[in-house]
Amino acid sequence: MNIKSLKKHFFSELETIQEDSEIESFFFILTEFLHNLKRIDVSLHPDFQVSELDLEKWNTIISELKTEKPIQYLTGEAWFYGLRFEVNENTLIPRPETEELVEWIVESQKSKVESQKLNSQNLIIQKSNNLTILDIGTGSGCIPITLKKEIPYSFVYAIDISEKALETARKNAFDNQVEVNFVHQDILKSSNLHISKSSNLLFDIIVSNPPYVRNLEKQEIKKNVLDYEPHLALFVADSDALLFYRKIAQLALKSLAPKGKLFFEINQYLGNETVVLLEQLGFNNIELRKDFMGNYRMICCSL
Ligand code: GLN
Repeated sequence: MNIKSLKKHFFSELETIQEDSEIESFFFILTEFLHNLKRIDVSLHPDFQVSELDLEKWNTIISELKTEKPIQYLTGEAWFYGLRFEVNENTLIPRPETEELVEWIVESQKSKVESQKLNSQNLIIQKSNNLTILDIGTGSGCIPITLKKEIPYSFVYAIDISEKALETARKNAFDNQVEVNFVHQDILKSSNLHISKSSNLLFDIIVSNPPYVRNLEKQEIKKNVLDYEPHLALFVADSDALLFYRKIAQLALKSLAPKGKLFFEINQYLGNETVVLLEQLGFNNIELRKDFMGNYRMICCSL
């Protein structure tokens, strides 16, 4: 079968379950994944022949897509900030909203280095060379790995409760050729962030995208997320939706370096509540930001 006919077959199989734009995007993810053909290559070579063996692979994937399994779990990969991350049922699929949070952190460091350059007549102060970053609830490792790539002089640490997620995150750091120190820890059961036994490290940046979806929001969550992504990474009880924010902020009180910053991805419906929580704990310079969808999605504060 040629690729042009395959495209027709692919659309006819999925059109009752997915929007056309979604099917189209799946199709090109798969031409690239299975045949290394980008959209333009498909247009230029409509007669590209798909072997019987490859056709079987396509059909297996089509039947999985019909169950609404996320395509990233079928290809085993997701792209975040231009980097490739292995993902599986133990890790959340990185989201574009989280890319925006990472971008905010990267920008905040660039502007800091710029102002330090000006202050010290173009000499970058030593401090920037010792920047320490901690990501809490790292999942695939998308946040710390991207930060280490973007801010190479930083020392980056990441915590997760799931050993299996950490295994994937370690592999992702290796594949992306960066050094991140991964630590297995249940922060809800921890009274400090002593990630190394020998020292009480202070962090210039603490970041987290913790579980924040309330059970009452489950009806808004699509089947592909609800049925396949790890609930451990997504959901919190309705009665205490800010549990992770409170705990992480309390730990940050002891572990943020002077002038350090705490960044969170947040539940879009709980922006005000999160601000109040951080104020009550003694944080200042609280800034709430919207994501590209116009929802309050991230917050930054300092002590
Ligand atoms: N830090 C990871 C991400 O942003 C995992 C977040 C989570 O599992 N709650 O994708």
